[in-house]
Amino acid sequence: MSELLVTAANDYTAMMVDYAAGGLAPAAALVVETHLALRPDGAGDVLAADALGGLLLEALPPAAMAAAPLPSGFAQAERAVDRALSDARARIRMAAEGGAGLAWTPRFPGWGEHVLPVAGAALVRIGAGKAMLRHGHGGQELTLVLYGAFEDEFGRYEPGDIVVADSQIEHRPRVSGRSACICLTAVEGGYRLPWWAALAQKMMGRA
Ligand code: ZN
Repeated sequence: MSELLVTAANDYTAMMVDYAAGGLAPAAALVVETHLALRPDGAGDVLAADALGGLLLEALPPAAMAAAPLPSGFAQAERAVDRALSDARARIRMAAEGGAGLAWTPRFPGWGEHVLPVAGAALVRIGAGKAMLRHGHGGQELTLVLYGAFEDEFGRYEPGDIVVADSQIEHRPRVSGRSACICLTAVEGGYRLPWWAALAQKMMGRA
């Protein structure tokens, strides 16, 4: 399927509204920004959300819009954030081209992780023919396919497709096609894994 694929359409719309209003956490904003770069056809939703964001701004009292003096050190902190973001974007581009040159930390057989310098954001690589463990989520999980394809109980996802999963959803992603699959993820609250897998992660010092 080449349509925009989402597990929960309402979650997607809410996420786009939050993105346009600048209200997403940095990791989620990075996922949405990359999604829009890969799938410009998703931009219609964001234009609508931009209009809505404008209405929200108009509704704010003028005092809320007044420029506050910048605290000292703010510009320096902002530059550090900019550097981290451009570093993350460069790694995401590498991942979208197959991930050569990126180091992967094994989390489970066939499943490697490359943590990005943006809190909560990571690249996940699942080898060809491999499956991730069946898992639930402590909070919202955004998964954007960058390279290859995967499928779960709800659909099949290709580069540019974004999957919104929340604490209600359990799934078992598995790679489809002949290549590995690399995704950009933003995960709140971690994964909920079977007891034996959680134990194995603890023993690997990853929990
Ligand atoms: Zn998941």
